[in-house]
Amino acid sequence: MSAPPGRAAAGKTAWLLPLLLLGACAAPKERPFRAQPVEAAASSPHFAAILAEVRVHLPQHDRAETLEIASEAGLRRISRRGDLISDGTREAPSLSFRGPTGVRILGVLHRGEALIEPHPMGGLKVTLQLPIAAYIEGVVAAEISLWSAQPAELEAQAIAARSYALGTLLKRRRRLSDPSLATLEGSTQDQAYRGAFEPDSNAGSRSAARRLHRAVSRTEGQVLFLEGQPLAARYSASCGGHTASLTQVFPSPISAEQNLEGAPCAGCQTRAEKEDPSDPRGPLRWQVTFSRADLRTLASNLGIGSQLLRYELGQLDPSGRWLSVVLVGDRGQKEIPAGALRAELGHGRLRSTRIVSSWPHAGDPIEAGLQLEGLGHGHGVGLCQEGARDAAQLGWDARRILAWAYPGTELRDLGLPSRP
Ligand SMILES: [Zn+2]
Repeated sequence: MSAPPGRAAAGKTAWLLPLLLLGACAAPKERPFRAQPVEAAASSPHFAAILAEVRVHLPQHDRAETLEIASEAGLRRISRRGDLISDGTREAPSLSFRGPTGVRILGVLHRGEALIEPHPMGGLKVTLQLPIAAYIEGVVAAEISLWSAQPAELEAQAIAARSYALGTLLKRRRRLSDPSLATLEGSTQDQAYRGAFEPDSNAGSRSAARRLHRAVSRTEGQVLFLEGQPLAARYSASCGGHTASLTQVFPSPISAEQNLEGAPCAGCQTRAEKEDPSDPRGPLRWQVTFSRADLRTLASNLGIGSQLLRYELGQLDPSGRWLSVVLVGDRGQKEIPAGALRAELGHGRLRSTRIVSSWPHAGDPIEAGLQLEGLGHGHGVGLCQEGARDAAQLGWDARRILAWAYPGTELRDLGLPSRP
């Protein structure tokens, strides 16, 4: 069990100080962003390989019958013929495509190389080989609104995304006989990635592209470490007032080796007080009603009968976030992690596990349906994008934002090139 958020171990308390000062910040001040250099870490061949290029699978193209790819070979229509891939002029077990600025798949630019191969379930499968900077730019563009983002917010998100990539690929490489095949999913299963951000002729769009590029290049090689290892730094849209502990929300062997505590989020706390829960556009407060049919499906999927009779509170974290819930059906009951409940009911509907009220209440019979009201959007671990935006607007730099969002971490500069 992790220590309660806000009670970090000795040596980690320095990270809490900036939080206490939120709201009493000095005027925004941009200064050169420097991280601690790490000579020994830079010598790792895994680090060097990952911080040069990453493999990214694009699940949105899985099992496509045909794809149009523009590359240095021109515009090609790719299809599968048995176990082979054909672009109309060549047939091979797999085909790769590249170009001076990358490739376009169905019109979307990817600043790297594309490998097309048969998908095991039929159709095509696309995997990119991207310079990490190109990948990070794509992730940041997919994750936050570039138009209004402050430089510190972009830099913090870039470092978090790079740390996630390094920490995750490192674990995957160590499990593979051919480490070069370690791959990230180009979706929220790992990190959202929808291709390169291409500005249009609008001045604001071009400015956003410049700020994005600058944030990624200024933080090049910078990675969060926790307990001596790169942290696969998770982040979420909004924590709802308090971020969550990594090991409490993801109690898997993968996360067990690193224990990231939660932290209060002044930005979300302030916003939550102002928002109307019935306004679907509000990023923090939400309410949702699950019908009897929804709950019948839930009970059936969990094998506890054909009706959900009631629910009981399971484990809560110190901020009140649900960690588990006991569901009682007409043919049994089951305690499941709150994250699994979100997966069952839909991440878009049950937006977070920071549930603050329900109707009926816990323990009372469910008859017509179940209404839940909560705060935040996402799993709540690590960087809260809403909170980071508020902190950046108050003048926090990226280092300070990251020290708050990832208590106990060190920001290290691996000093490795990652230019596209
Ligand atoms: Zn927050």
